[in-house]
Order: sequence, then structure tokens, then C-alpha cells
Amino acid sequence: MLIAKVRFASPLPQLDKEFDYEVPSELEDVVQVGSSVEVAFGKGGKSKVGYIWALEAQSTHRGNLLPLLNIISNFPALSVQQMALIEAVSDRQAGTAGELIGGATPKRHVRVERNFDESPIPIPNVDFSGYEARLARELVTQNGFYMQATMEGDDNECPNWAKEFVQAALSQYQLGKSTLVVLPDFSDLARFETALELAELKAISFRHSSADTGSTRYLNFLMSMTHVGITYGLRGASFSPSKNLGLILVWDDGDDSHTEQASPYWTSREVLLQRQSLENVKMAISSYSPSSEVLRLIQIQYFGYSQAETPTRKSTITALGDRLDSESFAAISNAIASGKNVLVQIANNGWASGLVCVGCRELRTCPSCSTSIWIDPEGKTRCRSCKIVTALSVCACGKSSTRPSRLGSSAMEQQLRRAFSGGTILLSDGTNRLTKVSGKSLLVVATPGAEPAIEGGFDLVLLADASRMACSPRLRALEQSLGKWANAIALSKSDATIICVGLKGALAERMSRFDFFGAVSEDLAERVELALPPATRVCSITCANKTDLMILESDLKEAIDEDQAKFLNVEGELTLVMDYKYSYGLHLANLLITRTAIISQKSKSKKPGERVFRVNMDDSQVI
Ligand SMILES: [Zn+2]
Ligand SMILES: [Zn+2]
Repeated sequence: MLIAKVRFASPLPQLDKEFDYEVPSELEDVVQVGSSVEVAFGKGGKSKVGYIWALEAQSTHRGNLLPLLNIISNFPALSVQQMALIEAVSDRQAGTAGELIGGATPKRHVRVERNFDESPIPIPNVDFSGYEARLARELVTQNGFYMQATMEGDDNECPNWAKEFVQAALSQYQLGKSTLVVLPDFSDLARFETALELAELKAISFRHSSADTGSTRYLNFLMSMTHVGITYGLRGASFSPSKNLGLILVWDDGDDSHTEQASPYWTSREVLLQRQSLENVKMAISSYSPSSEVLRLIQIQYFGYSQAETPTRKSTITALGDRLDSESFAAISNAIASGKNVLVQIANNGWASGLVCVGCRELRTCPSCSTSIWIDPEGKTRCRSCKIVTALSVCACGKSSTRPSRLGSSAMEQQLRRAFSGGTILLSDGTNRLTKVSGKSLLVVATPGAEPAIEGGFDLVLLADASRMACSPRLRALEQSLGKWANAIALSKSDATIICVGLKGALAERMSRFDFFGAVSEDLAERVELALPPATRVCSITCANKTDLMILESDLKEAIDEDQAKFLNVEGELTLVMDYKYSYGLHLANLLITRTAIISQKSKSKKPGERVFRVNMDDSQVI
């Protein structure tokens, strides 16, 4: 008798195991691992969709087994490699396999299956002369590699890194292997697609994107499952199938968009490092400014690396914290008067990134949750965590009027509009995003990540909030600022002028020669000395019920090895934070899964379909 071990796409910990079903004899020839199937489940035996995780001759289940009701498709819904990755990631992140299944397999479309052509695609005939091949060359001998992308080349829409990625992927294709490319956002996706089009490789490229229609997504999924080619997309594509995978490429791994904001809180880089080892393939990461995690991989000699040549741009550092001092003002005026284009990077969008009391100058906070407040692009006062604030209470000092502590991009746009009437002032931010601009005497105000591409590149880039971004009291503030500055600078001409506002000391010196590699290395060295991530990992556990959390804390205090993991003191009494060694990660994750499950069972605050504990094995926000 053949037994199908079935898993469900459910985040519930109690469903996070394999359920045994009997395979009826008429299905024995068509059933395969990865198939989606219909089974009867639970009280009343309602039909439920599951996935065959394994097929075995014996069952450990005592008693009679229910039969599989139906096989949904002749095509597998998951590849064996995807299933292994899902298991490995859920183990590492103390999550459930069930919560990762849904993202790894798109909705089935019968019509796509009916018309699906499994025949091989003819090998494209590509002329790559004129392309650099730094990455493809290195990957001949390297298994893990970091390439600091060069900023030279004035093509904002098809930068060098995108061409390098395409060429490395083509080298794999010529060896009969697939490449998986994971990008942080849609503008980088568009850049990579431009490079694919230039090389005429669209026919062997399969996009995995939530922006596509359901049938396109399913078609591309089937193509990646059955054809060697280039599979690409945003972070969710980390879990996409890729037939005969040979190489994984990641652009800008330190960008926040690579981190999933729902359980089990994974990050593209870490998932793909697991995938690299599971599938025994090559992996390369590239960016203009390295992440501290990449530098750690270089330090432990897991990755080789190559630094980019120093950009030829001219750097000006202003020591004053003033966003628009006389020198910067003059530089912008001159640029606009001579028809040049200027980019001004502002850290936050909206009208004000904070409000202070006019009486006592205290920063005003949300009356219901005490989080800081700001004024959004529509002029509405908002709390950063609980949305709109309709009425601010009177301040402790008795005054109720406020003024902005710092202007956001909308206010900055207005200010510049008054100051530079000779230019065209444009605003690009998260809510109103420009992807590409063209013209002369443009003055573009943009928030990080929303900077538009411009033909030929910007002539002047003003990093107006440089000092404030770098000095934010967050562990990753400096590293992330460097990444955001580098991405903005990369949109400028090779002979552009870059003004960094308010930088001092070693950082000013580093930025005077655009030494991103050195600046992040220094930041990492300090963190290693203090045993902070990425020298260690930091996890957070939150729970709405204080009693449950205290039970867990005392449980863990007894169970953990103190040389491997320890508790950190943080604000907020409903959160536990622990710092632990990489080598202890799997053990700790397993401990957390088991202990939280036991406590959840008995919890008084348990609600159906909800978790009592929220575990984030790599919480970069808590410190
Ligand atoms: Zn006050
Ligand atoms: Zn609030």
C-alpha cells in the first residue's frame, strides 16, 4: 500500500506536520511528490487542498487511513528542491512549513496547463562583445562571491550590474543550468529586464511577480519548473522553482525590501544562502555599498569579493547640519541656470517628519500609543504606528500649538519651488513615485529608494539629510544610509558633484572618496567588538499575555546554554530579546517551537486561528 504524506498551506502550528493518506490504486501511477491533492480533513471530513510531501510504503499512523480524494493537476505544485528549502527556512526561522507553502506555489490555471508547451526553447544567439564580464569570469572559480558594482556608465535604466547579471546568467545557460535572480524592488526589476531585452534573452526568462496576472504567474511558474532559463523576481522569487539551478544572484541584499514582514520573517539573502547549500550551487551578491552581513561572509572566507574602482565624481562635504547652506544653494542655482539636473535626497516624505511643542520643544507623540507623529503628504497628522491622529492633546507644559521638527519631502519641494523659480521642481516619494524623468534644469526632490532614473544621469546630487540619517540611534542606521546614498549617487553622471550635508570625522573622510566598503567595514568592526549583529543573531519573542511570556522566559533560562545565547534588556515588557550564536540558531529555534507550542496549548489568551507568540529569529528593529 502506498502512503502519501500530506502537508497543508496553513500557518497554524498544530497543522505543521505531515498527515498520512492512502493512495488509491487507480492513482498510484499518477501521484508524485509535490502534487497538490484533495483530501478529507477534520470533523465532517470536509475537502481540503494539500501537498504530497513524501510517498512511503509504510505508515506510522495507527488505525485506518483515509484515501486521497483526487489529484488536482498532472503538474507538480512544488518541486522537491522547493520543499527542502521550505523545511530548512521554517526550521531556521522557528516558523512553520505551512506558512511558506502558499508563497512558493501560485494559483493553478487550467487553461494555462491545457496550452502548455513543454518543448525546449532554442538557445538564443547572443553577442556579448562590449559587455564587461567581471562577475561571469569570477564565478568560473568562485562558489560564493560579492561584487561591489561599479557606478561608471551613464545609463540609469540599464546599469552595469544588470548587464553583469545577465552575462553571468547566460554563462550558466550555456552550461545547461538555470540562474535565479532576486531583486529588492520594481525599479531594479525594470533595470534587470532592460538588460535582458538588450541581450534578447526574454524568451528564456521567467518573471515571478505579484504584479502579473494569475495566468501569467502560473505560466512562468510552469516554465521555471520545466525549462532551464533565468528565473527572476522580488524577494518572493527566492522560493520559486528553478530547473537545474546553477547560480543564484542577489542585488542590494541590505535593502529593507528583501525582508519579509510576516512570520517567519525571512530575508532573501539568508534564504538564498540556505538554498545555495541545499542545491549545491554558486551564489553572488552585488550592490554599490556592501551590507554588513556580506562583509561578514567575506571575513569568514565564505565569499570571495571584488571592490569597485573609486567613482570619478566630485565630493563636497558640508560640515553644517543645515540642509541648504549657502554653498549648496549656490551649487544648485548654478546647475539649474546652466540647464543641468539636480537630485535632492530627503530622508522622509510628507510635510513634517516630527512635531515639537512651541512652548517646551518636547517632541509630541501619539496620545494613544506614544509613538512619534508626522504630517503626511496630504497634510494629515499621523502616528507612525496607529495611523491618523485626529486631535493632539495639550502638551504637559500647557501649550497646544506645534511646529515641525524637520520638514519632509513635500515641504522641501515647496521650499525649493520658492527658492529656484528658474527650474522645474519635481517630487518623487513612496506615495507619488516617478520612475523616469527627462528634460533640462530639473530639480528632483526624492525620498530614499524613490529616486527616478534620468537619461545621462544627474549633474548634482545633494544628500540633504546625510548626517541625520547616519546618526539615527539604530544598529543598522549607518549601513543602511550608506546603501541609500550609494544608490542615489549611482544615478549621477561620472563627473557629477555630490554634496553630503553635515558629515564629520571619519565618515566625512570616507565619503570624500566614496569609500562605502571601508565605511561599512569600520561599522562592522565596531559591532563585532560589541558582539552585536551580524557577529551574532538577535531574536525577539512577543506575546500579548504577560503571564505566558514570563513562563516562557523562565523555561528558556533553564533550557538554554548560557555560552551560546543570552537575554538582552530592551524596552517593552511584552517582548523578550535574545542574542545568540549562529551555530546555536537551529537548536534555539527548535527550543522556541517546542516551548511556545506547550505554553500556547494552556494559554488563557488563546484565540482560534491566532498565535499566542510571535517569534522573529532575526529582528533587526529591536536594537
Ligand atoms: Zn510643551
Ligand atoms: Zn499611535
